[in-house]
Amino acid sequence: MGGVDKADQCLSYYPTVRNQQKKYYLKIFRQILNQSVWNSFVLYKKNGGTMSHLDFRLQLVEELAKIYGESKHSSQNTTSSDRLNGRHFPSHIQPTQKKKAPTKICIVCSQKFNEKCQRVRKESRYQCAQCNVTLCVTPCFEKYHTVENFKKFGTLFL
Ligand SMILES: [Zn+2]
Ligand SMILES: [Zn+2]
Repeated sequence: MGGVDKADQCLSYYPTVRNQQKKYYLKIFRQILNQSVWNSFVLYKKNGGTMSHLDFRLQLVEELAKIYGESKHSSQNTTSSDRLNGRHFPSHIQPTQKKKAPTKICIVCSQKFNEKCQRVRKESRYQCAQCNVTLCVTPCFEKYHTVENFKKFGTLFL
């Protein structure tokens, strides 16, 4: 629970969520979008809504994804039941010409925030090839495949 509250708190400080955008118009667009999500959240709360800001955003993304779904990368996205039921084994991330043992950011770790409200960036050599995600072998591999409403937060916030 603490993690979610922390994320919620962090996400309410908009300047920390802002990416280092080089394109100024994207920056403006994101700010306006964030502001309108925030405004609708305030209205939702005024009407007696009980969801947290984080849940509200997740719900919003889910609803939008339902309507505009069909992502170009849909083949990479496993559904929750695939993630929880399929056969999943840790394997090394494919070596490249430059790197024999490449590492990437763990998707589970990257959902956590540190004291400075920065996303935790922990690198791992391992992946689940089935889900096409990078994960620490322990404890993230198990977490990712067992926690029912695990969300890929990293893709949700602008
Ligand atoms: Zn991890
Ligand atoms: Zn998997």
